[in-house]
Amino acid sequence: MTTPLSVHLPFNRDILGAAFTPAKRGDKPAGERGHWLLVQGQNLLVAPDGPGFRLPTGDCPIALGDTAPFWLGTYRQAPVWVVAVAADTPVPDGLVRETMIPMRGARMADELLSLGGMAMQALWWESTSGHCPRCGTPTTRIENEWGKRCPSCRYEHYPHLHPATIVLVRDGDRVLLTRKAEWAPNRYALVAGFVDNGESLEGCVAREIKEEVGVDVKDIRYVGSQNWPFPSQMMIGFVATYAGGDVVVDKEELEDARWFPCGALPSLPSRHSISRYIIDHYGRP
Ligand SMILES: [Zn+2]
Repeated sequence: MTTPLSVHLPFNRDILGAAFTPAKRGDKPAGERGHWLLVQGQNLLVAPDGPGFRLPTGDCPIALGDTAPFWLGTYRQAPVWVVAVAADTPVPDGLVRETMIPMRGARMADELLSLGGMAMQALWWESTSGHCPRCGTPTTRIENEWGKRCPSCRYEHYPHLHPATIVLVRDGDRVLLTRKAEWAPNRYALVAGFVDNGESLEGCVAREIKEEVGVDVKDIRYVGSQNWPFPSQMMIGFVATYAGGDVVVDKEELEDARWFPCGALPSLPSRHSISRYIIDHYGRP
């Protein structure tokens, strides 16, 4: 067995392997037929298929009106199209509305979540890139790119991803976990935070831990990443070793933070998140 390119987590495009080719370059296929990613908020409209779900295929199952579907790429030898479905549009017969949000109990297979995540990111980009961020002029698409160009001041911009670090602090056979008040009861996870201007990833890790839980760390080690399309984070995962200091919880950010023995962990996030991946791989006995 070969080593995978990246950690196997939904929303990482690599897990689709050869099944998906992105549409960044190349000719748009003629005719709007193929697989349909019908995005309604943070849900996908999909067809039940045995114990799981599949994308609707063929002609678009909903009336498109003036909406032009968006070509995302090629999935399993057929074009895959993205459509933003209005919140008040009824779900067509034969389809069901399934959440893509892991914390809300996402049930779709990782491949569908990854395609749906890309669809949401593409729609988010389209909805936020229509005007030049410098001068406000409506932008135009750069040919064969996701990027947009301003016809007035020539500013060009490309899809924005926001880097955030997420880190497990380990001290021998115990790990430091945190929880936010809005999470499910007794659910704990990792310290996470956005990278600041001028900051290295390691600097971000050390700062976030110091700010949120008050301790110092050493031996900061990268362990994997996850693209997180709610709406556009890049979660960059680390493990660090405790180097000193008492736990002091930043009550503005967190409800609690405490050490847990590796053999007696509390309720954890679902398997879909890099938080859980890191705990499972680096926080167990
Ligand atoms: Zn401009």
